[in-house]
Amino acid sequence: MRENNGGSQEIQVGFVGNPNCGKTTLFNAYTGARLKVANWPGVTVEKKEGAMKYHNHRFRLVDLPGIYSLTSYTMEEKLSRQYIMEEDVDVIVNVVDASNLERNLYLTLQLIELGKPVILALNMMDVVAERGMEIDLHRLPEMLGIPVIPVSARKKTGLDILMHAVAHHRDKKNDEKLEHHHQTAAQSKHIHKHHEEYTVVYSDEIEDRIDEIGAIWQKHYGARKEAVPKTAGLRWISIKLLERDPEILEAYPLAAAELPRESYETRITNEKYDFIEEIVEEVVVNKSSKEEHTDRIDRLLTHPVWGLPAFLGIMALVFFLTFTIGDWLKGYFELALDAFSGGVAAALGFLYAGDILTSLIVDGIIAGVGGILTFLPNIFILFLALAILEDSGYMARVAYVMDGVMGRIGLSGRAFIPMLLGFGCTVPAVMASRALEDPADRRKTILITPFMSCSARLPIYVLFSEIFFARHAMLAAYSMYVIGLVIAILSAFVMRLFQKKRQEHTLLIELPEYKTPNAHTIFIYVWEKVKDYLTKAGTTIFFASVVLWAMLNFGPSGLVEDMSQSFGAMFGRGLAPVLAPAGLGMWQVALAFLSGLAAKEVVVSSFSVLYGIGNINSAAGMAELSGILAASGFTALNAYALMVFCLLYTPCVATLATMRRELNSGKYMAVSLVFQLAVAWLAATLVYQAGRLLGLG
Ligand code: GDP
Ligand code: MG
Repeated sequence: MRENNGGSQEIQVGFVGNPNCGKTTLFNAYTGARLKVANWPGVTVEKKEGAMKYHNHRFRLVDLPGIYSLTSYTMEEKLSRQYIMEEDVDVIVNVVDASNLERNLYLTLQLIELGKPVILALNMMDVVAERGMEIDLHRLPEMLGIPVIPVSARKKTGLDILMHAVAHHRDKKNDEKLEHHHQTAAQSKHIHKHHEEYTVVYSDEIEDRIDEIGAIWQKHYGARKEAVPKTAGLRWISIKLLERDPEILEAYPLAAAELPRESYETRITNEKYDFIEEIVEEVVVNKSSKEEHTDRIDRLLTHPVWGLPAFLGIMALVFFLTFTIGDWLKGYFELALDAFSGGVAAALGFLYAGDILTSLIVDGIIAGVGGILTFLPNIFILFLALAILEDSGYMARVAYVMDGVMGRIGLSGRAFIPMLLGFGCTVPAVMASRALEDPADRRKTILITPFMSCSARLPIYVLFSEIFFARHAMLAAYSMYVIGLVIAILSAFVMRLFQKKRQEHTLLIELPEYKTPNAHTIFIYVWEKVKDYLTKAGTTIFFASVVLWAMLNFGPSGLVEDMSQSFGAMFGRGLAPVLAPAGLGMWQVALAFLSGLAAKEVVVSSFSVLYGIGNINSAAGMAELSGILAASGFTALNAYALMVFCLLYTPCVATLATMRRELNSGKYMAVSLVFQLAVAWLAATLVYQAGRLLGLG
């Protein structure tokens, strides 16, 4: 509290809450400021201050960045926490979205534990009313032990009462006796009287640990006045020590023997959520039907057992659609390309264009670029499906469902979102890893994301699985996605073994309500991707096709009739022996892989250029390629090894550049490049050799 010149006291009020709960709107309503209000998290990144008067009180209001918890993982959390702990905040106004209590109350419980006066501003009451929900405003403050004021920042209701409460409660600390009937209280053998003292009462074991570590802390630091933070009470410090909070451990070093052997963070978090569930159960009377709808769907989709199979099933459906509908549409694209290619060849003949020019245009450019364009329907459907999954709210659930698996490999479920986006394109996926707080986690995620099969690899699977796996084509292609996922997870697991410091992860992720995807959003998303794909066909792939054509048509002796005398062939022959153990020791394959560095689709266009097949994707083109390959002893097993290699080997140059930028290190990028090559070679070799042993080759 500050003494002001005029004698009247100024009350410092901090607005704290989740992103998007209306803090800024509330702040603006009080101060008349016009701060940017936005409908997504991360908009308020620094604190904003404003002053106001109410009756004879003067208030200094501070709008803080939105946070989900008081851990100090993200920048926003660090800033808010530091502010609350170090500055003279007299009263914390915890703004919550009343229509979404379940998610908002986690932070509330942590704020209460701090031991500062907290007032709950139950915002968005207009939404609550509109949805026909009801909140028991008598029971809620009783269970939380703090004043609860219903407001609507947008409709400007309840604003005066909120400030009235702030003025009245500024001196109330939370250490008065509070009653809370914890479910386990009846059978509790706990001798301490925590149930009468605190709002959130943990299980006996944790309460005992809190007491023990609190006593230890008292012994070391209790006497040192300056060591005691202005705001935080002993209980909060004890809990943070049990959670092995890095900042608190740094401020109050304790001997290793004095600390519990493992962190209690997960258990403490879980028990908080159990209590929140109790509160919501008792306090929210009419859950809105929309929310119930979401709950019902989530009972299956985020189920501890069924959640994962449901996810794999949904992904299988996505690929089923990508193949069936995609292939059906592709048929028409091929007819068009055939006609076009024939027409151009005829026209060039009519114009007496030279053989070389005709070859460049028909065998180089049309075969390369056109071949890639026929995959547009598959790509379109894949992105359409991903867009729908994202916009409907399912993506966030995937992170949640995968958190268990990811935790075991030392990553948070959040790391799965970049990986999932990797099914589309690795470049944005690598950039999406920015959402991860821990730099080591980010690095790990960036290293494994390229194993997720991006859409550029799809044409390779489509082509080879249709030629070699006939009825099982879809299964063969789907297996690539699963292999990629498994290898990514295995790699992370191995990296974890080498990691000295292992940290616990607690996933806090917003699970938005399911909604019908918005047509406009989907359209923009898909259009962006299709445009990227077309641009790539027109630039990178065009260029790569021309270079490849040149490499194949020129040799040391100038223009060559026989392709096997070309520069390209010489180059490929140099690499081929390395690939032989994987059943891929052909110079054409080696050269196709090499050109695939430009973009993975180029592997397919390379095959068309290499074998001079006009429309590689048509039935005739496939038959031709299959005939040529079969003649050199290339079987389904070789094809599968080829698909595995393409799935795993070094990503395209665009990805490498992005990785370099995001990792901020050429060294890590080089490490990842070598790592990916090694993994691809090993996996393809394993597939081929194992297949041979089983007599498949
Ligand atoms: P902040 O992230 O907590 O600062 O939240 P904002 O103040 O930026 O608000 C997020 C969104 O919620 C904006 O679209 C606001 O217009 C909206 N909003 C805020 N308060 C209310 C309210 O009381 N009722 C309704 N219906 N919407 C609100
Ligand atoms: Mg804001």
